[in-house]
Amino acid sequence: MPSKDLLLHVCCAPCSAGIIETLIDEGRGLTVYFYNPNIHPFEEYERRKAEIKRFALTKGLPFVDADHDPDKWLKRVKGLENEKERGKRCQACFDMRLERAALHAHEHGFKALGTTNGISRWKDPRQVRQAGINAVAPYPGLLFLDREWRKDKGIEHMLVASKRENFYRQKYCGCVFSIPREQEKEKTL
Ligand code: SF4
Repeated sequence: MPSKDLLLHVCCAPCSAGIIETLIDEGRGLTVYFYNPNIHPFEEYERRKAEIKRFALTKGLPFVDADHDPDKWLKRVKGLENEKERGKRCQACFDMRLERAALHAHEHGFKALGTTNGISRWKDPRQVRQAGINAVAPYPGLLFLDREWRKDKGIEHMLVASKRENFYRQKYCGCVFSIPREQEKEKTL
């Protein structure tokens, strides 16, 4: 029977592999949860999902594939399309994904919820932290795993794992509004 210790929301394989390995080393019972309706286009969504699913399964971890839900995501960020990265659209995006993950954690009896969202240098970890805290608030007994993944060699571990596993590395965060970043130089992850 899968462990009900920690439900880990993941965004993509390059950001998540090092964190997953750290948590395994720490003895956490992990289930990997993929809910990322922000990712556009659908082929990109499928590609990122396939990479992290492959990795989770090689580690012997349960993998939960939630819906794509792009229409709901677009509704959630309506009016925020022109926000910059780390702005209000990103907060809404983190909120939506972690709310859904928290609901799943609650419904399936997990003790804690974590996310790999904050490790990228493109993200504001304070936004991710707030989204996690707010997401678990309606569920007494469900804890948010409040970790600063960039610290304690987190970035180094992420890069080493990503290179070793030869992951596909996307050049933009995920949503259609972040795609122009692809044209900028040397700005991955
Ligand atoms: S830039 Fe990334 S975090 Fe921000 S809204 Fe788009 S997909 Fe979500």
